Amino acid sequence: MAPQQKTVKDYIRTIVDFPHEGIMFRDVTTLFADPRGFRMAVDQMLHPYAGQRIDKVVGLEARGFILGGAIAHQLGTGFVPIRKKGKLPGKTISEAYTLEYGEAIVELHDDAIEPGETILLVDDLLATGGTAEAGIKLVERLGGKILSCAFVIDLPELGGRQKLEAMGMDVSVLCE
Ligand code: AMP
Repeated sequence: MAPQQKTVKDYIRTIVDFPHEGIMFRDVTTLFADPRGFRMAVDQMLHPYAGQRIDKVVGLEARGFILGGAIAHQLGTGFVPIRKKGKLPGKTISEAYTLEYGEAIVELHDDAIEPGETILLVDDLLATGGTAEAGIKLVERLGGKILSCAFVIDLPELGGRQKLEAMGMDVSVLCE
């Protein structure tokens, strides 16, 4: 019998109690560090959109930059970062969202997306969906149309996918 092919999930390790007690941190650095794993993840994230128009890939800080950059390169599109407050040098728009403890703010350059552009939003992991929701709002405020939100991992017990789908978003994930 042929040896079993490794899946994307096999390259991801879980670190218990990081950054706080009770959190099972899904560490994708081991996926990114492996040439087969990284290529597999990027190819699988792209696969559903073959033949569809995408103008820009928008990545969420920070692991969404690594995936989103590779996806944009493969698609031949531009890449746009959504960053935590205070990191982008130009004029920005911002959205606040709730974290487990407190609030965070993410920003997007106000000229990064043209009205009507088709966007693929990318991050490594979907938990409560708060980060992605803030990203969607930023893109939509500039008139971008989100084709889909693509993640490597979904933590379904945290309800992020339902939250995004309730906003009318298409969501794709590679594993749970
Ligand atoms: P959320 O806004 O709750 O959907 O959280 C998603 C963001 O937080 C993503 O940018 C993830 O990289 C990060 N994140 C949340 N929970 C985890 C986890 N258990 N392991 C790794 N990253 C996480």
